Amino acid sequence: MANNEKPLVIITGASSGIGMATAKLFSDNGYPLLLLARRKGHMEELNLPNTICAEVDVTDADSLVKAIAKAEEQYGPADLLVNNAGVMLLGEVHKQDPAEWQKMFDVNVMGLLNGVKAVIGGMVQRNTGTIVNISSIAGKKSFPNHAAYCGTKFAVHGMTECIREEVADKNVRLTTVAPGAVETELLGHTTDKGIVEGYEDWKKQIGGAMHTDDVARAIWFAYSQPQNVCIREIAMAATGQS
Ligand code: NDP
Repeated sequence: MANNEKPLVIITGASSGIGMATAKLFSDNGYPLLLLARRKGHMEELNLPNTICAEVDVTDADSLVKAIAKAEEQYGPADLLVNNAGVMLLGEVHKQDPAEWQKMFDVNVMGLLNGVKAVIGGMVQRNTGTIVNISSIAGKKSFPNHAAYCGTKFAVHGMTECIREEVADKNVRLTTVAPGAVETELLGHTTDKGIVEGYEDWKKQIGGAMHTDDVARAIWFAYSQPQNVCIREIAMAATGQS
């Protein structure tokens, strides 16, 4: 184990968007990192010090556990997991391929639970640790064309609160961060061109989406509180988003 002052931080979905911005912020503040996503090259290109980049699909619990064990050997136990990996495939329910619903539930719900399970036992044992789960404003209110995506993000809110209650007396914190629209690659996976165009127009109408750094700072804020203070939820959006 290396003699680092700062403990290990794990970020899923660090190959782009919010995860990548969060990786940079924590690295700038001296944290050793384990970055997880499928596009390993994107994470390696960041060239961050004291950082392990692992090609991991969060739906594969075994490879998640193995990557974490390897990083903990090098940097010591993880003190923060940012469960950020996610996919958004918008569509009208009567037209959408159920495979797209399945994919969102696999990654946004099962993948997030896989992350929690991989670290929480150790945190409970050590009597300290923090898990930040990335939900969405779509986990608090409905939007047209978002049925399955909203379902996954409402689930993130509910699951995070349940798990928080389970481990509160073990000094382990759970936080839900729920952003509104952020400028990232997320919309790019939606196949319905009309919905994509409508979403882009809506972003213009609200005066533009947030920047990934805005969300990274919220994650930082929650984590940087003293361990006896748990920020349970941060809901945030561009000021112009209603
Ligand atoms: P991006 O598409 O830019 O990033 C998504 C990240 O998740 C990528 O790094 C991607 O990496 C990773 N990912 C996707 N599927 C998997 C998988 N199976 N295994 C591992 N990693 C995976 O979008 P955002 O940065 O916007 O999204 C981050 C989170 O923020 C998501 O949970 C999203 O739902 C949430 N969010 C985003 C909002 C927005 O407007 N952008 C608003 C509210 C919440 P790779 O493809 O390399 O595996």
